[in-house]
Amino acid sequence: MPALATTHSLNDYSKLNISTYRNQLKQTKQDFIEFNYSYRGKAYNYSIQVSKTPCNYGHYRHWWLCPKCSSRTSVLYCAGTYVCRHCIGANYQTQLQQPIDRIYSKLNAIRARMGWQVGVIHGIGERPKGMHHSTYNRLLNEYEQLTDKLLRTFKQ
Ligand SMILES: [Zn+2]
Repeated sequence: MPALATTHSLNDYSKLNISTYRNQLKQTKQDFIEFNYSYRGKAYNYSIQVSKTPCNYGHYRHWWLCPKCSSRTSVLYCAGTYVCRHCIGANYQTQLQQPIDRIYSKLNAIRARMGWQVGVIHGIGERPKGMHHSTYNRLLNEYEQLTDKLLRTFKQ
């Protein structure tokens, strides 16, 4: 199996491999496949375009055209409708990712409680006088998790 089919994120989705439809496409000579199914209680009824490229000995290789971005792919993933791995990847990431602005405002909210100068650039300050160690540690922990998230956002 190709590596892309075995990553955890993509494994969560049901897959549709074009090879399953090879015979059907050969026999009908259609350039689309019709779908009729229900997914999480919602009915779907639509067709997906197929394209083909010539390969050896007069044969053709079939590809899905992703209904969302029209790129050519041999495997589609179900996100309600079927889309290519790039489209489902984009979906998957936006669900996990918090917008950067929200991370910053959370960070600054913690900074304000700590009495630290606003702006993550100033780094971690001291425990404010009168604040419990346990509160300080909890906020510090939260703060570090948020900065981790921020770094991961920038790396992508
Ligand atoms: Zn796509």
